[in-house]
Amino acid sequence: MDQCEFLDICYFAKNVKDNEQKEAYCDSNSLRCARFMIYKGVGEDKVPNDLQPNEKMKAYEILAEN
Ligand code: SF4
Repeated sequence: MDQCEFLDICYFAKNVKDNEQKEAYCDSNSLRCARFMIYKGVGEDKVPNDLQPNEKMKAYEILAEN
């Protein structure tokens, strides 16, 4: 799969040193990323900087609130 379309704007991709998650999500399977779900669902301004790609339960809560 292609790299994530939000690589250029994503706080996690730009600032967090976690190559394991970057390989698992940003470089291969962004559709499963919690941050991606919010970018797509409710927009960039609703994505918390500290949200991790593997925190899907938090993503569902944010999507439900917005
Ligand atoms: S953390 Fe998620 S939204 Fe951000 S670049 Fe990686 S896959 Fe895309």
